[in-house]
Amino acid sequence: MDTNYLAELLFPHIKTVPEDMEALYPPRNLPEGAKVTRFAPSPTGFMHLGNLYGALADERMAHLSEGVFYLRIEDTDDKRTVENGVALIINALEKFDLHFDEGATADGDNGAYGPYRQSERKNIYQTYAKYLVQQGTAYPCFCTEEELAANRAEQEALKLTPGYYGKWAVWRDADIEKVQAALNEGKPFVLRFRSEGSCENKLKFTDMIKGVIDVTENDIDHVLLKSDGIPTYHFAHAVDDHLMHTTHVVRDESWLSTLPFHIQLFKALGFKMPKYCHTAQVLKNDGNGKRKLSKRKDPEAALTYYHEQGYPANAVKEYLLTLLNSNFEEWRMANPALPLEEFPFTPKKMSISGCLFSFEKLNDVSKNVISALTASEVVDAVVAWAKEYDPEFASTLEEDRAYAESIFAIGRGGSKPRKDLTTWADAKPYVSFFYDKYFEYTDTLSACPDDVKAVLDGFLSVWQESDDQTAWFDKIKAVGEKCGYCPNMKEYKKDPSGWKGSVGDVSAFLRVAVTGRMVSPDLYTVMTILGAEKVAARINAFKETL
Ligand code: GLU
Repeated sequence: MDTNYLAELLFPHIKTVPEDMEALYPPRNLPEGAKVTRFAPSPTGFMHLGNLYGALADERMAHLSEGVFYLRIEDTDDKRTVENGVALIINALEKFDLHFDEGATADGDNGAYGPYRQSERKNIYQTYAKYLVQQGTAYPCFCTEEELAANRAEQEALKLTPGYYGKWAVWRDADIEKVQAALNEGKPFVLRFRSEGSCENKLKFTDMIKGVIDVTENDIDHVLLKSDGIPTYHFAHAVDDHLMHTTHVVRDESWLSTLPFHIQLFKALGFKMPKYCHTAQVLKNDGNGKRKLSKRKDPEAALTYYHEQGYPANAVKEYLLTLLNSNFEEWRMANPALPLEEFPFTPKKMSISGCLFSFEKLNDVSKNVISALTASEVVDAVVAWAKEYDPEFASTLEEDRAYAESIFAIGRGGSKPRKDLTTWADAKPYVSFFYDKYFEYTDTLSACPDDVKAVLDGFLSVWQESDDQTAWFDKIKAVGEKCGYCPNMKEYKKDPSGWKGSVGDVSAFLRVAVTGRMVSPDLYTVMTILGAEKVAARINAFKETL
């Protein structure tokens, strides 16, 4: 077979050769050891938590090594591409403070290694496809869908591996006349890779995460170009990662099954393979065992979910780092105040097997992240979130910013900050009692109303706004004692007889009257923030309800 003749027959419009492409994509001028990574999603409009998981690994590897993190759009499947898909991807990652150094932008490209949309790279792929045909490692296949389906059915019945190989690879050795005739008839064809591999052979492959793994050689003649001349993922990623000088490919471990084909493909194209990091999938335990986080069943699979729920972007990233690198938590404990960008992220410490998504853990991380912020940072973040999801609450906080800050300052700072907020959505229920318009009684008291009234009146008659915390508490104890409540908890526990209750009950009467709840942050601070007038008004209003 004259492969040059065949190549010309299939790709008469392609006048470029691989050397032309190599010249257009010269090596990058980067410091020694710099890693070039890419985020290469399909613009389907949906960003999965797993996307951020991989992108974070890509971004960390590139930016910790003074390398390049770029965005490549894998839009070779028209049916899955949505309008604005690229903007959605960029915006989704920007929310998590991940920025691309180069690549596709919402309305074009930024960088010297584009185009960064695979749909705009047809001629580049076909240049290499033509080259492979010339080398005898690719050939056209004119099988129809029906013929392929019949092959599959036969293979299934015989319990054989499905695919285009052996006697089923009917076009593999077709002579040129037969090919020419099919072309003359205008029959559509796909371009297939001519595999010389055997499933009897095993080979070793070094994955950056999984270490040395055994893989079985590929013996299937996979498709390189579909009948519309558009490449499959396998072919496109090999050409792109080579020309764009990607040094590390981070991708889901589901690609391991086609890795043997990729190894052959890089070899046939004369490309050096980048280093591969096949990441474990994010799993969840749904009661029936572990399974992949599902776009259809699990709202938490969508990246937008975390923003909507009000998780700080940093908390989600911190949490993903705990899944990504086994030593992250240890590092965090030793360096509680350092930004996560200083963590020495490495693919070598990435988890080998499936990592389990846990809300409990995410919430824990999120609480810690929020508790380490200043009151002013919290107000900023709550307002920003509320502007989108609860604008009325956002304006309420902004109306009196100093008041809002004093509320969120309660229990902040120090070595054991309060951890009341898990998400920004928790802010409103947490602070609502500070605002008359949101105030409501959520808890009730079981004590005798006259006793409660006596305590409340007693408190109002002695309390002064200028009292410090000790004087305030001494007054509470004294008022309580007068009304029959033991001022000393220990003493009361030892012998409650003769008392109506303890100072604990007295505090509870005041707490429910002022906050509407049995549980609140430090009552003295709460009263100080509310001010004497409001405290008196709340107490008097509560008496009316008894
Ligand atoms: N477009 C592929 C996907 O979304 C990317 C895989 C890769 O990063 O190589 O799964």
